[in-house]
Parts: sequence; structure tokens; C-alpha cells
Amino acid sequence: MVTLKKTVMMSRNLRTEAAQRFAERRRREDEAPRLLDLVPSLATLRLEMRSRGGSVNAEARHARIVVVDRAPALFALKCDDPTCRGGGYDVTAPIMSGLLAATTSFDMEDTCRGTVGEAACGRSVRVHVTATYRDPPFSPRPGRRP
Ligand SMILES: [Zn+2]
Repeated sequence: MVTLKKTVMMSRNLRTEAAQRFAERRRREDEAPRLLDLVPSLATLRLEMRSRGGSVNAEARHARIVVVDRAPALFALKCDDPTCRGGGYDVTAPIMSGLLAATTSFDMEDTCRGTVGEAACGRSVRVHVTATYRDPPFSPRPGRRP
């Protein structure tokens, strides 16, 4: 009776591995500081990803519009190779340093740290970031004063 229950729980654990990774990702996002707290002048943010290499030979592109009002200051991208295990990219540091410098357009590259079978995944992503910023709230605009 006890053994059977244990087996059922173990297989459920395997099935929920993906759900746990998702929950872990959500927890990290919830704990991360808000993007707007760190970069209050940020108005819009768009990421264009181009990934290539690894066992998936094709180049893939997709874009993400970040909802800056409630986005966390955390930029973890998934590896797009479905056979990759434990992979992904964390481009939080380069994106944040670009945004903190109020750069409107910049690029970075990262290599997946996951594994496909016995080998390293080897897929890499190139991220093109475009950002716009609001005017600083208290800076006087020339020629606008009454
Ligand atoms: Zn990968």
C-alpha cells in the first residue's frame, strides 16, 4: 500500500518536472525587482531574438514586446531546441546595463548552457534590443516655460 503510493507520487513528480520549472521561473520573476523601479524612464522595450547552431540547424527568429509597466527586471530566454535539457539564456545583465545607460538600440549574444543527449547544446542567440524612454520628469524643457 505504502509502496504503491510512493510509486504513484514518483511518476507524478516526473510529469510535473516541467510545471516545477515553470513555477521556479515564475518565482524568480516575482522576486526580481520591477523593470520600472530600476529604469523609471523606460517607455517601450522590444527584443528581437535570432537563434542558430546546435542540433537544430535552422535559424529561428522571434520578437517579444515587453510590457514595461509590470515586467520584472529579468530576461531569461528559453532555448528553442525542443530536445535541449536545462538550456536557456540569461541576458539580464547586458540588457539592464544597456537600459540603465538609456541606450535606444543595442545587441548581445549568448550561448545556451543546456545539453542535447550527451553533448552541449551549442545553440546561440543574438538579441537586438530597441528601447524608448520618457523624458525625465523634472527636467525643464527649453522654450516650454511660461
Ligand atoms: Zn539549448
